[in-house]
Amino acid sequence: MLINLTLSAIAQACDGELIGQDCVVSAVVTDTRKISLGCMFVALKGERFDGHDYIEQAIQNGAAAVVSDRSIEVDHYVKVADTTLAYGAIARLVRDAFKGSVVCITGSNGKTTVKDWLAQSLFEKNVLKTRANLNNQVGVPQTLLELDVNHDIAVIEAGTSFSGEIPLLAKIAFPDVVILTNASGSHFEGLGSLEGIAKEKGALVSGAAPNANVILNADDTFFDYWCGLAGKRTLCSFGFTELADLYASDLELGAESSKAVFHYRGVALPVFIAGAGRHQIANGMAVVLAMLVIGIDFKQAVDALATPVKVAGRLERLTTKSGALLINDCYNASPSSVKAAIDVLVMQPADESWLILGALGELGAQQDEIHHDLGVYAKDKGVSCLICVGAVAGIAGMAFRNKGGNAILCHTHEEAAAIVRPLGKNHAILVKGSRSAKMENVIDALTN
Ligand code: ATP
Ligand code: MG
Repeated sequence: MLINLTLSAIAQACDGELIGQDCVVSAVVTDTRKISLGCMFVALKGERFDGHDYIEQAIQNGAAAVVSDRSIEVDHYVKVADTTLAYGAIARLVRDAFKGSVVCITGSNGKTTVKDWLAQSLFEKNVLKTRANLNNQVGVPQTLLELDVNHDIAVIEAGTSFSGEIPLLAKIAFPDVVILTNASGSHFEGLGSLEGIAKEKGALVSGAAPNANVILNADDTFFDYWCGLAGKRTLCSFGFTELADLYASDLELGAESSKAVFHYRGVALPVFIAGAGRHQIANGMAVVLAMLVIGIDFKQAVDALATPVKVAGRLERLTTKSGALLINDCYNASPSSVKAAIDVLVMQPADESWLILGALGELGAQQDEIHHDLGVYAKDKGVSCLICVGAVAGIAGMAFRNKGGNAILCHTHEEAAAIVRPLGKNHAILVKGSRSAKMENVIDALTN
C-alpha cells in the first residue's frame, strides 16, 4: 500500500467510530486468505457471504484491526454503518496520497478494451490497471489499494449495475482523466432507460477532480449533455466527424485490422489499428486522446494502436477442430456490442457467416424488442444462419426467420455446438451472449 493508515484516520474517512486504541495498519484486505501481519480486515457483505463471519479467523491470522458494521469482541476496530462504503473511503485515502494520474474509464461498451489498450500502450510508465473486469464498488477500491510508490499512473475501469454506483466510484477514484466511451442500451433493468444510463455514466464526469481532463465521444447522442456536466474541466472529444478534436477519416475496415487517418490539431497521421471493426477505431481514438493528455506525442500514441489488445472472450480468433474460424466474443453482450461483433463477423473472408447467440440479460421490459431488433440486424447484415440458444435468444431467431433467414432454436450449448461442428474452413462462426448465457460452453465444446 502507498501509505500507512491510522485507525483514527480511517474512522474519520468512513464516518465511523474508533473502538479501542489507535494503531497503524500497513495493508487493507477483505479476504482472510490474504491477511498479512498488521493489516486491517474489512468485513464486506456479499450476496453469498458475510465477511463478519470471518472476523475471528482474520484476527487469528494476524490482522491488527477490523472494519465492522456491528459491535465485536476485538481490541481495535472501526465501527461503520456500511463496510462496502467504508472500503471505498479507505481506498480514497490511498488515492489522495498518489502523486501520479488516475485515469478512469466508463461507458456502455469498450471499457475493458480501452483500459487494457491504454495500459499496454503506456509501456514506458509504471502502470497499475484494473485486473480483468473488477470494475465495481469492491473492484475499484481493491485496485487503488494496490498503488505503491513506483506507480506513475492508475488506469481504472468503472462499471455500473445499479443507479448511483458510478457516483460512488467517482468519489473513490476521483479521476484526473475521465474517458466516457459511449452510452447504449445495456443494464436497462438497473438504470431504467437510455437517459438513465447516460446520467449514470455522466456522474464520472461531474465527479472527477475539478481540473480533470474529460475525454468524450463526439458521435454519441449524449455528447452535449456530458459536455454540460464537465464544468470547468478540460474537454476533448473523439469521433468520426470533423467536429471532434481527434477524428478519424479514410477508414479501411479489414477482417482483422483497420486503417484510418487520425487528425488532431491540424496534423494528420495514417494509423494501423490492430483489431477489426469501426468500434475498435473509436476505442483506439479514446486511447490516443488519453495518451496525448498524459503527455505522449501524437505519433507515438498512434503507433501504439498497431499492437493488438488481447482480451479473453472479446473477438478472440480461434479455429474449430474442423477448421472453421471461431470468433469468441462471449464474455458478455449488450445490444450495441452484438451489432459491433456482427459487423466484424460479416467482414470475414468466409463463404458463410454463422452466429450462435445466447440471451442478453438485464434488459428489463426492452428484452423482446431488443432481441427482435438483433435478429433483423443480423439478417440485414448478411448473416447466413442464426443459431439461438434458449427461448429469449429465440426471439431474435423468429425475427431472422420472418425476414427469410435460416434460424435454428437450440435448448443447450451442446446442441448448438453439434450443429456447427462439421463446418469447415469456409465458415466463420461468431459466438456471443451475456455473461449469464455462459456461451463459453459452446466455445469449449468446439475447441476441446
Ligand atoms: P463490461 O460492461 O462487460 O465490462 P466493457 O465496457 O468493459 O464491458 P469490453 O469488454 O471492452 O467492454 O467489450 C465488450 C464488448 O463490446 C465486446 O464484445 C466488443 O466487441 C464490444 N465493443 C468494444 N468496444 C465497443 C464500442 N466502442 N462500441 C460498441 N461495441 C464495442
Ligand atoms: Mg469490462
